[in-house]
Amino acid sequence: MSEKLRQAVGESAFVEGEAAIARLSKDYYWYSPVLEQELAGKTADYVIVPETEEELKQAVMAAVIEKIPVTVRGGGTGNYGQAVPMTGGLVVDVSKLTEILEIGDGFVRVQAGARLREIEKAIHETDQELTIYPSTFVKATVGGFVSGGSGGIGSVTWGNLWDGNIISAKMITMENELRELTVSGPELEPYIHSYGTTGIMTEVTIPIKPKSRWVQQIYAFDNLTDALDFSRTVSEQGKWKKRLVSVMEAPISAFFKPLKKQIGAADQALVLIEIDESNQERLEEEAVAYRGAAIYTVSADQYRKGIGISDFTWNHTTLWALKSDKTWTYLQNFFSIDDLHHQVRQIKDRYGDDVLLHFEWLRDKGRLVPAALPLVKFTSKEQLYDVIRFFNEIGASTNDPHTYLLGAGGWDMQMEAIAQKKKENDPFGLLNQEKIPDAASIRGTTNV
Ligand code: FAD
Repeated sequence: MSEKLRQAVGESAFVEGEAAIARLSKDYYWYSPVLEQELAGKTADYVIVPETEEELKQAVMAAVIEKIPVTVRGGGTGNYGQAVPMTGGLVVDVSKLTEILEIGDGFVRVQAGARLREIEKAIHETDQELTIYPSTFVKATVGGFVSGGSGGIGSVTWGNLWDGNIISAKMITMENELRELTVSGPELEPYIHSYGTTGIMTEVTIPIKPKSRWVQQIYAFDNLTDALDFSRTVSEQGKWKKRLVSVMEAPISAFFKPLKKQIGAADQALVLIEIDESNQERLEEEAVAYRGAAIYTVSADQYRKGIGISDFTWNHTTLWALKSDKTWTYLQNFFSIDDLHHQVRQIKDRYGDDVLLHFEWLRDKGRLVPAALPLVKFTSKEQLYDVIRFFNEIGASTNDPHTYLLGAGGWDMQMEAIAQKKKENDPFGLLNQEKIPDAASIRGTTNV
């Protein structure tokens, strides 16, 4: 045990016991059978859970002196092993740094360990709500979302993390003289989705919007084409006030066991929607034009009381599939809005029910995109990368979720800016080691 570290933060901040340390060294990388093998057994030497920002800073300063690698952990719900300490060292669990520091008109400033659901609850008191959040918002922290996520519920209207959904962040560096930086605007770029490799986030300010009365609905269609066309109309037209538009190919709903009674035979394509209460009736009429109908509604009064429709969307869809059958895994793709039906046909012709299509409509830099988290029956790494190659060949570009390397496998990341910021803020290379690949290994990993 590092004596400096123990003196810096005190006994009580350390997590005791091998099992607890092993658990806090993992995230949800097991969704990927590839990562499950590659990351097995990677464990921290120590885990601390600081209670104050001051304690966090003391730990960071001690780690710099002793050159101990540091990996920050929020809720630990990342899917790519982002929070796994590749070289041991110290995991800093920030989940006790949860203070809501300031709620203003159109913004909220919070400590980075605050969970997104708790933030939304607090801002509801002022009749405001979050713009975007992941479907894991019960467990996920805002710092973890900014540092390791991308988008989620709300992205169909407000875009993803790079689309103005962060106002500013306070970062601390890992240098001999710890610096505290407040970054905003374009300066945020090397910190967003960079896995905490360029600094430790202590505070985040995010934009918030006037609260709506959301209704959740499931619409059923006899075929995927109609479901996609309906979902495109809702996503595209500004007259529908929406927070979520997800599309599931027919057999996927068989995995949604808690909704069995509402869904029935699981032989229809589904569109899962969150829409403002004032739009509900008109939307039900609109669905008729696409030969669809609402089969289940959670009223605005029941929103977030018990299991909701959004608990089956984004990467929760994959979770429900995995609960039924461990051989499912998933991809992340951007389909082409103009070639969507053709791309779908090519995939179905080639893979049949070994690939099941699940779409999440979102805005990316203002452009509407049919993004997807397709389920893929896994047989081997080679087969998985064959599927990825095929998706890329037909123009449904992949962000590979089966690599822990930042920026590898299709992600459009500003790796040079990240490398530069890392040099400035983490000159000893202690933060989340081995997550930033060199250019050669990026080429090697994608296989695409
Ligand atoms: P962690 O997993 O704890 O950390 C994520 C990364 O950020 C790690 O690299 C960690 O080192 C770093 N980090 C954490 N806190 C800090 C900090 N304070 N300073 C610096 N670095 C830090 N993601 C989406 O984007 N959208 C979704 O809809 C979505 N749905 C999901 C559904 C399921 C069922 C699962 C398992 C995952 C899903 N994810 C989704 C992935 C993940 O849940 C989110 O990205 C989530 O926001 C991560 O938050 P976290 O607090 O758990 O972060």
